[in-house]
Amino acid sequence: MSGTSEKPARVTAGVTFGARLAFEQIHHRFASDQVTLQDVSLVAEPGEVLCLLGPSGSGKTTLLRIAAGIESQSAGRVLLNEREIAGPNVFLPPEQRSIGLVFQDFALFPHLTILDNVRFGLTALSREEARNEAMAALSRVGLESYAGAYPHVLSGGEQQRVALARALAPRPAVLLMDEPFSGLDSRLKDTVRAETLAILRQSRATAIVVTHDAEEAMRMGDRIALLRSGWLIQTGTAEELYLQPADLFVAGFFSELNLFGARVAGGAADTPLGRFAAPGLDEGAAVTVAVRLSGLEPCAEEDGVAARILSRRFLGVVELLELGVEGVDEHLRARVRCGLLPPGIRDIFLKVRPRDVLVFERERESA
Ligand code: ADP
Ligand code: MG
Repeated sequence: MSGTSEKPARVTAGVTFGARLAFEQIHHRFASDQVTLQDVSLVAEPGEVLCLLGPSGSGKTTLLRIAAGIESQSAGRVLLNEREIAGPNVFLPPEQRSIGLVFQDFALFPHLTILDNVRFGLTALSREEARNEAMAALSRVGLESYAGAYPHVLSGGEQQRVALARALAPRPAVLLMDEPFSGLDSRLKDTVRAETLAILRQSRATAIVVTHDAEEAMRMGDRIALLRSGWLIQTGTAEELYLQPADLFVAGFFSELNLFGARVAGGAADTPLGRFAAPGLDEGAAVTVAVRLSGLEPCAEEDGVAARILSRRFLGVVELLELGVEGVDEHLRARVRCGLLPPGIRDIFLKVRPRDVLVFERERESA
């Protein structure tokens, strides 16, 4: 934290109001010359939970670190409520940004009590005030009874909540969370995620939550921003990214797909599963037709394409089928509700639900 005396370390107004955090044409490269972020423009609106989604190495952590002020962009600006906090001629130090950060590994101090961990960032307050604020933050995450204990007595989910309390105690206008649930085992994840979301809503802070898991982004985010190799590929609601993916990479991030190569003829693309409309694409264009695994359903002979079942795997709600279809070199895969197909059946007919078919021009492909 800042050791200088001229400024209070943090804004600690009685009530938090979420701020608008804007990234404007952010470029970033490490000394190695490799470009990490390219022309990223993105806004987190006041009070919203924005999920920053992308595969490992896509630049998510770097973007958070730039917002927090622990990394500098090579070009572009960061604005908090229209105020420039980082730009070509401006750099506001982290402790003056009113931005909280929760790290992937929680980063609690093992030798400090839970209360002292949460009090750590409250350097601008008197000892008494800091204690009260820290206790209030701890009770917000339901852990006030652990104030005097040390981090090692807590479960992973509880440690995550202490980290959240520590980040919220100074009442930041923006909270950044870097893969906050990745260290938790899968049984805990659902509960901790739901609790965290409720606490974020209550705090009214604007939140950016980083994840590499599309389902997690859909569960948590009011909106989702998808990064690949440092480029922002698409921003929108879960529905928008799922139903209208900008390209094959986005589609593949949100659903498992069967892929077919084809050419547009008469406004449509022919595949072994049928003919699908290719609106807006040029005649003769090379396209990839993507069919979601959940978009194939068993049907009567006259309505479908013949398929031979090669394997069936029971997954509880659905079963995963591997199928052979004439004219398709690779095996198709389908997710079908359990109980729909009788045991032992080998030959079936399949139809394709039109809303589960996406057609992309080959040049725009990137997966
Ligand atoms: P993500 O959080 O999406 O996994 P990061 O922002 O951590 O991605 O990293 C983006 C890219 O920058 C990766 O290719 C990574 O290897 C590289 N990188 C990260 N940190 C450093 C560093 N300190 N020095 C050099 N390259 C780095
Ligand atoms: Mg990361």
